Amino acid sequence: MSALPDLAPATAAAAPSPRPSLAGLTRAGLSDALGEAGVPERERRMRTNQLWHWIYHRGAVSFDEMTNVSKTLRAALAERFTLERPEIVTEQISTDGTRKWLIRLPPSGKDTRPHEIEAVYIPESDRGTLCVSSQVGCTLACTFCHTGTQTLVRNLTAAEIVAQLLIARDRIGDWPGMERAKDGLVPDAERAVTNIVFMGMGEPLYNLDEVKDAIEVISDGDGLSLSRRRITVSTSGVVPEIERLGAESGPMLAISLHATHDKLRNELVPLNKKYDIRALLDACRAYPGASNARRITFEYVMLKGVNDSDAEARELVRLLKGIPAKINLIPFNPWPGTKYECSDWERIEQFSEIVFRAGYASPVRTPRGRDILAACGQLKSATERLRARARLATEAPEAE
Ligand code: SAH
Ligand code: SF4
Repeated sequence: MSALPDLAPATAAAAPSPRPSLAGLTRAGLSDALGEAGVPERERRMRTNQLWHWIYHRGAVSFDEMTNVSKTLRAALAERFTLERPEIVTEQISTDGTRKWLIRLPPSGKDTRPHEIEAVYIPESDRGTLCVSSQVGCTLACTFCHTGTQTLVRNLTAAEIVAQLLIARDRIGDWPGMERAKDGLVPDAERAVTNIVFMGMGEPLYNLDEVKDAIEVISDGDGLSLSRRRITVSTSGVVPEIERLGAESGPMLAISLHATHDKLRNELVPLNKKYDIRALLDACRAYPGASNARRITFEYVMLKGVNDSDAEARELVRLLKGIPAKINLIPFNPWPGTKYECSDWERIEQFSEIVFRAGYASPVRTPRGRDILAACGQLKSATERLRARARLATEAPEAE
């Protein structure tokens, strides 16, 4: 068990840093911080822009780097704040280049406990996608999803969502002037992280205000500069919030559909009892900006003998008629204790063939990072296992 002593603090209350970090804050948040550091109102806008550039364009981790900011202000900021990112508990790199970070969040608000979340980086030849979490756990309990079995839930702050991107770029060496990491694949693109998907832990539309702020920071052209067309929010179908997401933020939308009739969807995605398939598809039809160039992604997890028949493939295509859609077939990722199995490969091929013939291209999501349990629906399970092992290590070291 000697490999795990660094995990032990996860079970104890982590001492919160006496100085809060500015990394991940919105412009309004930075402006308030500058006010606290004594910067007069009239200068704050200009100073905010300077901080913004250093934090989000250059990836600064210390105020000392900010050479166009006066020494006095740098000192005043350093006295009160840091640019620290949340702690990385573990980093795993898959043989296929997928990376997974287990990140410890310090206590926030009334919640006095630290929590862990995961972020996953998936490199491809022409792009690099970062899958971020929006909540610790999830309240929605979809029956095929391991995250949904976790009882403990808290919303992430916008800063905690943005920090996942900062951490990924730090670790990959994805800031201007930095050397790219050589262990593992990175895409042949100017930036290693080109896309963000909200497909990690949590239901992003149950934390929409913070998700919106995070998208604001991530898409800002003077900083992280990932356009909204490269940011995808995946939802299990929180219908009223889909409209708000479209009107107030406007990223790409992905819908976790998984079934073509309400009886089955009620079982797989219990939220369907509140917002059924018809209401969900109506919200999709009304999603602003959806067009053939900006299609809505429909995710469909392949569950053996449950939702994978030819008839369901045909029904799926029929349901989506008239919606600018992409279909993403996801091989089910099993987890310990689940009652589901992944459909056989031939079945997935046959299903995808029907979908393909109806005009939807290359729809199967290739499993990535399976050796490090980086796939959807497995997030957090690994964390909990590590926790249990860490407890074992501290409580009964002689047992191993
Ligand atoms: N809560 C949001 C986003 C996070 S889940 C949502 O449900 O859309 C991201 C995607 O992973 C969803 O499509 C979800 O249905 C899928 N997923 C969850 N568990 C899975 C599993 N065990 N195997 C494959 N996909 C899974
Ligand atoms: Fe929550 Fe999404 Fe998992 Fe459903 S699939 S339990 S909404 S994270």
